[in-house]
Amino acid sequence: MTFDDGPNTGTTNQLISTLRQYNATATVFPTGSNAQSNPSLMQAYRSAGLQIGNHSWDHPHLINMSSSEIQSQLSRTQQAIQQTAGVTPTLFRPPYGETNSTLQQVEASLGLREIIWDVDSQDWNNVSASQIRQAASRLTNGQIILMHDWPANTIQALPGILQDLQSRNLCTGHISSSTGRAVAPSGSGGGGGGGGGGGCTVSVTRADDWSDRFNVNLAVSGSSNWTVTINLNSGQSLQNSWNATVTGSTGTLTARPNGAGNTFGVTLYKNGNNTTPTASCAAA
Ligand code: ZN
Repeated sequence: MTFDDGPNTGTTNQLISTLRQYNATATVFPTGSNAQSNPSLMQAYRSAGLQIGNHSWDHPHLINMSSSEIQSQLSRTQQAIQQTAGVTPTLFRPPYGETNSTLQQVEASLGLREIIWDVDSQDWNNVSASQIRQAASRLTNGQIILMHDWPANTIQALPGILQDLQSRNLCTGHISSSTGRAVAPSGSGGGGGGGGGGGCTVSVTRADDWSDRFNVNLAVSGSSNWTVTINLNSGQSLQNSWNATVTGSTGTLTARPNGAGNTFGVTLYKNGNNTTPTASCAAA
């Protein structure tokens, strides 16, 4: 579980107390600006044992910025988190899930691994608590869900999400900066957890953008016999694909290898929705 955009005076304490109540953990991606404004809540994240990543200084569209502007956004945030919580992040969640090669070079220079998500709860989009809980029910072992620190509906959904995970024998974990997958916290009693062998991961990179459509590049690692599920956002539809066999046109697309290797791409019509889709990978 990941919670972005904190810490916030209205919600962070409730988030932490619910996690404690269920003996659960999570990864939080605060902005540097919020960290600097709320040092005691950063301490609260830390003392609750949450993993803390970097989410930029003030949440800009980094893909429109120069390398030195990006460098400033990320390094100021590293310092603010170090000063308030006493830890140096190794994970970076790009605002809006937007990334490009300039950003990735800066991330690498700061020792940060870019983390997107497998499931978007859509909690930022004002969906109901039951819709957030339903999104979390799609999670499988090792996967990452995008949620936020600020929506009241997320706080309301959290007990149900944690009950559902328990009943499916999955535990909450932290994200490995070497694999980018969620793994059970060390010392946990097992039951779910491990991001282990035989799996695969897929990275999603936003590429060329036009007024009516955009390209998304996907790269699979960990297997050459995979099925990638791409979760289009509402309104979006498939125009074109390359280097994989892609079925479906709206909603959920399924991609399989077509002999062209482990990197492929799709062109999607926006139809008014400019959000980059998420994807997950299953190895055969
Ligand atoms: Zn954010």
